[in-house]
Amino acid sequence: MVTKIRRPELGSITLSAIVSVYLLAITNNSFWTHAAVYFDHSRLSLLSFGTALALTTFAGIMLVSAKYIMKPVLIFLIVASAAAAYFIDYFGVIIDKDMIGNAAVTTQAEASHLLTGSLVLHLFLYAVVPSLFVVWVKVRHQRVMPKTATTLAIVIPCLLISGGLIYSDFASVAYVIREHKDLMKRFNPTGPVSAAVKYATSTYQERNIVVQPLGTDARQGARVIAAGKPVVVVVVAGETARAMNFSLNGYDRETNPELKSLGVINYSDTTSCGTATAVSLPCMFSVYPRNEYSDRKARSTENLMNVLTRAGVSVSWWDNNTGSKGIADLISFASMTNQKDSPLCKNGECLDEIFLGELDKKLSATKSNSVIVLHQLGSHGPSYYLRYPEKFRRFKPDCRTPELMKCSVEEITNAYDNTILYTDHVLASVSRLLEKHQNDISGAMIYMSDHGESLGENGIYLHGAPYAIAPREQTQVPFVTWFSKPYQAAMGVDTSCLAKETDQPKSHDNLFHTVLGMMDVETKVYNRELDAFANCTWQGPPGKSNGSTFQAADTAKDLPAPIVPATVMPGAKAL
Ligand SMILES: [Zn+2]
Repeated sequence: MVTKIRRPELGSITLSAIVSVYLLAITNNSFWTHAAVYFDHSRLSLLSFGTALALTTFAGIMLVSAKYIMKPVLIFLIVASAAAAYFIDYFGVIIDKDMIGNAAVTTQAEASHLLTGSLVLHLFLYAVVPSLFVVWVKVRHQRVMPKTATTLAIVIPCLLISGGLIYSDFASVAYVIREHKDLMKRFNPTGPVSAAVKYATSTYQERNIVVQPLGTDARQGARVIAAGKPVVVVVVAGETARAMNFSLNGYDRETNPELKSLGVINYSDTTSCGTATAVSLPCMFSVYPRNEYSDRKARSTENLMNVLTRAGVSVSWWDNNTGSKGIADLISFASMTNQKDSPLCKNGECLDEIFLGELDKKLSATKSNSVIVLHQLGSHGPSYYLRYPEKFRRFKPDCRTPELMKCSVEEITNAYDNTILYTDHVLASVSRLLEKHQNDISGAMIYMSDHGESLGENGIYLHGAPYAIAPREQTQVPFVTWFSKPYQAAMGVDTSCLAKETDQPKSHDNLFHTVLGMMDVETKVYNRELDAFANCTWQGPPGKSNGSTFQAADTAKDLPAPIVPATVMPGAKAL
């Protein structure tokens, strides 16, 4: 005989209280831990702030406790909070508007690395089980009028007491929230839900953006015209490489043996524009410096690739990552990840050496001045171990799972350092290809990573922290460049002069103007001050330098190119 288990019956107020306690106590681990630290000046302030939040949460849930809408809303809040808590608690990430944007534009292959057994188990325990409880219980609802009266009789005192608590301790609460902008972003469910609303709103507002032209006056300068051979610059847009793990920057492990032997120019103090691809990449190729940059401005103004095209430079974007984030919309674009038959590719992702064969072919056929962007997969986590082949598995034991919490810090660092070692090989290989074809082209390579990575420092993993509070691990990026002999001669670059300036601070603000300078593009939007190589580049046409191949910095200063602030741009007034 089957005994039927009776569904428990609860009043809507009781269920609201149970779910409030569940959200506050179970899905807000990171919030309470950080609140305890930020309020360490006063336990009483913490207690009063915590009570105010608890009352507000309960009041908010009471407001949606009407028949028919209560259960779906509660389940949504439980699932959103449980999912957010997983990433906030285990990876130390903050779920803000940009992070929602990263998630929205990610590829299937990238997302699959995050969909691990731990995540599934976490969601089952903390989202599915409590949601089933909400579905299962019978809720007693009052009729409309008494229900409204009861709800108001509860919500109004809750909000008044909450407001009173905050007001009585306003200085302390305001100080903590202003100084620690991450705190309320950690609070579930309002943190991730408000981030998703902000992302949806900005995406809606940007749907009809008209792209303004940029650098309509761009043309090739005298040096590139007189160069004799096609000038080819390979821009390697790196991924998730942090500066401090480059031995070129003093890391105590040899992670850059090949670049070191090539004698590259390495800038040791370079800052990124953002902490995630979706912010940094468009910013790197945009005319706007970081302090003026916004997603909307980037989307509504043409970028470096368009200015180069206007000057008659042949441009192409090869992508081994998740796409160009709109930068290559108007130019030749090729995704490397389609090469399903290549031994370098597996499950929709390819090792970065996938670029090399194609680059070799392209360089042997190049007849015009060109810029080729290689958008790497680099060191993208959490599956660092998939970013390098066995041959580059030099630092062991290496973490062999995307579930970083199952690995020691040493294993994670080993896997990450192997990705850097492999990037070292790819960058050196690009330079060697440019050298191999130097009878036919004058080639140079410039590399910058889009952002860094946290490897467990202070409990933080991966990247995407809000910039204002981002650790240096996420914002200090490598910046490396290499020039072939024919390029140095044709374009007047003095590498010994450059080598003396490598400890000067550089940033993503430099990339736009430096690449224009490298291709000798003349345009009003070029800002020589932001061209990282300008001081060591001879500005006149070759052949007039008294027999020397190039002249040093002083000559360059004598013949400055026009400096126009980056904000003065034709057609950009409507921004
Ligand atoms: Zn990135």
